[in-house]
Amino acid sequence: MPKAIVNARIYDFDEYIDHGYVVFDETILEKGPMEAFDRDDCTIIDGSGHLVIPSLVIGHTHIYSAFARGWENSFEYESFMDILEKQWWRLDASHEHDTIYHSGIVNAVDHVKNGVTTILDHHASGTIAGSLEKLRKAVVDTVGARGAFAFETSDRFDVEACLAENRAFIDERHPNAPGLFGLHASLSLSEETLRRVKERLGDTPIHIHVAESELDQQDCLKRYGERVVERFARHGLLNPGSILTHALHINDAERDLIAEHDCVVALNPSSNMNNAVGIPDYPALRKRDIPVIVGNDGLTSSVTTEYQALMFASHVQAKTPEAFDLGDLARILDETYAYASKLLGVRLGRLQAGYAADLLMLPYIPPTPMRASNALGHLFFGLFNSFKPSDVFIGGKHVVKDFEVDAPTREAYAAAKDAAQKLWNQIERQKGASR
Ligand SMILES: [Zn+2]
Repeated sequence: MPKAIVNARIYDFDEYIDHGYVVFDETILEKGPMEAFDRDDCTIIDGSGHLVIPSLVIGHTHIYSAFARGWENSFEYESFMDILEKQWWRLDASHEHDTIYHSGIVNAVDHVKNGVTTILDHHASGTIAGSLEKLRKAVVDTVGARGAFAFETSDRFDVEACLAENRAFIDERHPNAPGLFGLHASLSLSEETLRRVKERLGDTPIHIHVAESELDQQDCLKRYGERVVERFARHGLLNPGSILTHALHINDAERDLIAEHDCVVALNPSSNMNNAVGIPDYPALRKRDIPVIVGNDGLTSSVTTEYQALMFASHVQAKTPEAFDLGDLARILDETYAYASKLLGVRLGRLQAGYAADLLMLPYIPPTPMRASNALGHLFFGLFNSFKPSDVFIGGKHVVKDFEVDAPTREAYAAAKDAAQKLWNQIERQKGASR
């Protein structure tokens, strides 16, 4: 039986209805003003006092970092390499199937509760074979979200195992869980490794960190006499639809290459500020019509706060509030939905007939008049800083109900704490062994 949310405010980043309904099964069937609602074949959900919008997409995250929360890991900082080597590479190296699965549960539950139902993940773990399948089981099968998964190929790991894991997962062609070909970053990938990646890549898009810190760019110039994006282009790796993450320390020639190869850039402003590596140059990307998607880099499990961070940081960076406005946000939302729709083979981002029923209900009584032309402003200034939908639907399935996931998923979430402790113990053992 189809579901009908009635008596709600409805907004899909395009049309706004002040008192309306939306009817859906796996896909949206229809929407309209309440006076036009005449169906008696639906399960009715009362949307009074709620705003209904399409659910959101995270463009770059690291599920494996879920267990960094509360991890007491101190180290001396000299450069960005210390953050990689002494924080993230210590953490990911100790991940096994059980901890990968439970970090997937935690990350996906936290995301869906924050209104994010499509998760583009960039994964690394000491246990390589089968790791992406564990993530898929957690994120897609257990929590019910959509995801795209990639293993960060790196010279830190057994390269053959990384290549095989990416290729095997991509070739499975799971519904709701495509694979991208994952690569860590220029500074951890030799020429030989990139040649081997090219042999296995075919036309699959890559997912990679690009010039997150100046070190990545300096290392590339020193070792190869060229810039990071030029290096990937020379190896023939920039397939259309590739996700180049950060792209902080790149120049105009590299931006031209990104545009030429139809890649997208995933910006992660909070993570960049936290790591003190810089602030994205959004206007330079916009100028070249490079599609931009926004990630959280695993630092949070939200995307709305990243949209806010991107606006505020862009203003500081350019010393003008004109560097990023709500029109830019609307454009990023459109580009993100277009990218994710193509990647996943579903239509996301509108409450129109034929689109996937990925939507959410936000408790919201507008304190000022609300209409199509200012609804995005209501969202950005009234809701994005504390974005807690009461109900979330993915492909029509009621995944978050009255702010909670179902009981089996809550149990899996509670069990994650033991998995996290196991991971921390394993890291301590590794540290002891290497001393
Ligand atoms: Zn990242």
